[in-house]
Amino acid sequence: MAESITLSEVAPRDGLQSIGPFVPTETKIAMVRALYEAGVRRMEVGSFVSPRAVPQMADTAEVLKAAKALPGLECTVLVPNRKGFDLALAAGADRLGFFMSVTESHNRANLNRGRADSLSELSDLVREGGRQGVKMRFNLSCAFHCPFEGVVAPRDTIDLVEQVFALDLGMEIAIADTTGNAAPDQVAAVFRHTVASWENPWAFHGHDTYGMGLANALAAYQAGVRVFDGAAGGLGGCPFAPGATGNTATEDLAWMFARMGVATGLDMPRLLTAADLCAKVPGGTPGGHLRGVPAAR
Ligand code: ZN
Repeated sequence: MAESITLSEVAPRDGLQSIGPFVPTETKIAMVRALYEAGVRRMEVGSFVSPRAVPQMADTAEVLKAAKALPGLECTVLVPNRKGFDLALAAGADRLGFFMSVTESHNRANLNRGRADSLSELSDLVREGGRQGVKMRFNLSCAFHCPFEGVVAPRDTIDLVEQVFALDLGMEIAIADTTGNAAPDQVAAVFRHTVASWENPWAFHGHDTYGMGLANALAAYQAGVRVFDGAAGGLGGCPFAPGATGNTATEDLAWMFARMGVATGLDMPRLLTAADLCAKVPGGTPGGHLRGVPAAR
C-alpha cells in the first residue's frame, strides 16, 4: 500500500494569531470552508486563550461551530489552562491541543510561568481529557531553537518528551520548530530517537522562516513522522522575527509529498485557491513557494 500522511491545517490559528487587525469571523470561516473544499480533514481552528491576551482568537467558539458543521472535519483547538479546557469541551472540540515550551525562558515569556508549573497544570488536564475520551495532542514549542536560548540540545527535548509520554501513553505528541531555525539533522536526530522509543503518534510543526521548512519536514518524515502541520499561503508571522514568513505552507508540503508518491488527500488546484484566499488576509505575512509557480496551477 502507498504511504500516506496527514496534513493538519493551522492557518486559522497559528496563521492568524499574530496578526494585529482583527480578522472578521466571516473571513476565518471562509478560510476554513475553502480548506475543507480542498480536502483538509484536520484543522486547528482556534485557541481558547484569554481574549485580552490574544484578541484575534476571541471568536474561536464561533469559528469552531462553523467548522463542526463540515462532515468529517476533525477540529482541534488549543487550550492553555483549565478555563480553556472547559470552554473547549463545552464547545465540542474534537481534539484538544496543549502546549508548553522546551526552554524555560520561552515558557516564561509565552506562558508567564516556569516549565514545572506548566507541566503540572497540563498533567491534570491530560488525565481528565483521557478520562473523558477526547482526542489530545501535546505540543512542545521551541524544541529545536529558542529565541532566547539559541539552539536546543536534542537531549533537552527528549527529556521533556519522556515526561509528557508518561502522562498519557497514546496521546499525539507534536514537536515544534517555533522559530523556523531548526536544522534537518537536528529534526532527524530527535524524531529518530522518539519514534524508536515510544509508540505514540508523532507530529511535526514547522515554520519556514529561514527557508528550511520543507527540509525539516522531510527529515521528520524520513524518521517516521506521519502528521505535519502547515498553514495554507504560508500564513503566520513569527513574533520573534518581525517580517519573517510563517508556518511552512500547506501547499508546499502537499506538493513535496505528492511528488514523492505519498498520499495527502488534498486536491492541489483547490488547495491553491484556499492558499490564495489565506494569503490575502489583511495584515497577514504570507509565504510559501507554490503560489508563485504558474506551472503548478
Ligand atoms: Zn507555530
